[in-house]
Amino acid sequence: MFRLEKVLEAFEKLPAEDVEWLKKTIYCMKCGFCRFVWAENTPSAEYAYQCPAGEHWKFEPYYASGKMEICRELLLGNLDYTDKVMEILYTCTTCGNCKENCNRAVKASPMDVIQEMRRRAFAAGKVFPSHRRLIEGLKNYGNPWFQPKAAREKWVKEMKEKGIKNANKEKVKVLYYVGCTAGVDPTMRRVAVATSKVLLAAGVDFGILGSEEVCCGSIYRRIGDEGTFRELAEKNIKRFNELGVDTIVTACAGCARTIMTEYPELADTYGEIKPRVVHVVQFVNELIKDKKLEIKKENNIHVTYHDPCHIGRHVGIYEPPREVINAIPGVKLTEMARNRDFSFCCGAGGGFRTQYLDVALETAIKRVKEAEETGADYMISTCPFCYQNLSLGIQESKSRLQFRDLTEVLAEVV
Ligand code: SF4
Ligand code: SF4
Repeated sequence: MFRLEKVLEAFEKLPAEDVEWLKKTIYCMKCGFCRFVWAENTPSAEYAYQCPAGEHWKFEPYYASGKMEICRELLLGNLDYTDKVMEILYTCTTCGNCKENCNRAVKASPMDVIQEMRRRAFAAGKVFPSHRRLIEGLKNYGNPWFQPKAAREKWVKEMKEKGIKNANKEKVKVLYYVGCTAGVDPTMRRVAVATSKVLLAAGVDFGILGSEEVCCGSIYRRIGDEGTFRELAEKNIKRFNELGVDTIVTACAGCARTIMTEYPELADTYGEIKPRVVHVVQFVNELIKDKKLEIKKENNIHVTYHDPCHIGRHVGIYEPPREVINAIPGVKLTEMARNRDFSFCCGAGGGFRTQYLDVALETAIKRVKEAEETGADYMISTCPFCYQNLSLGIQESKSRLQFRDLTEVLAEVV
């Protein structure tokens, strides 16, 4: 039970860093903003909610506000990382909705507090077997998907189009950082192929690192393995700066968020990244505006766009994908009820899908239903991980929708 005098005592006794985290937990005033779309933007009662975990379990500890109480008691030393506490800390996709909404008013940053407690759980040796496998995958294969390193080059060999350079051997202006999911998952290589086709069509001088590409580390930070994340960040920052490229482009929302917003937090230790880092939708949008990428055909399709949490709420990239979609003649875009900073998570992120596949799928099906209501035939996004989960949601719910990465739609018209 919350006892103010115990918290005040803790302020005197705890290390300064813990006091800062503790303050965030007691800022929580149980307003509930973290559960819902911001009031003035609420589209309807049905689509008012926004926390995928809370909406599945429908019980206070699973919403951010309840998690804040658990975190407070962990910091005060009144709770330990028991199996139940672990379950509650990890029933979170790190979608960022609670942080975004809470910080509009209260600034308690609940998602950051949850993430910090995951770091501490991991440091205390508490790790789910499913998450341990992700670490084994990295140790043995260099990626969380248990695919050999050479798999990162397979899609290049299968492509008809030539011209992708080896950035390890040749100097190029642009590095296409493919990421593990599009690089090695056989079902997601289509994103790497489509991205490359678009860059080739625009005459971009680009290369890839192929089997020498190193995982960005996003998933390891999400599950609390800060040591592995930092090791990977250090390797990547060093390699990016050695290459002498002007720009790093990635088509993975998770890699984009990690490299664009989390590597810079480590600049004092590992140095700044010298090249500009962008998600492919930003890069392609610039190419279209500068008339360097010509859209040669119409495509008469009706689409809706799913904002991935990683480049949406975590980076703030909302308009470039919409501008690219609207630049394709014939494409009709209809927004879902929840879009942009109020987008609903696909259910895959934060190590959630690995540990709670059934709830991740249930969340994807909810999002697919919302997409169906737009009347669109295609659900478009810009993240291979959303692609995996929402495609499964489409398949399992027997939806009439088809899923496409935005680069796939573009590759057909350039
Ligand atoms: S975490 Fe923030 S938004 Fe959620 S109930 Fe607490 S103060 Fe309100
Ligand atoms: S980050 Fe998303 S899933 Fe996690 S508690 Fe916040 S709103 Fe819920």
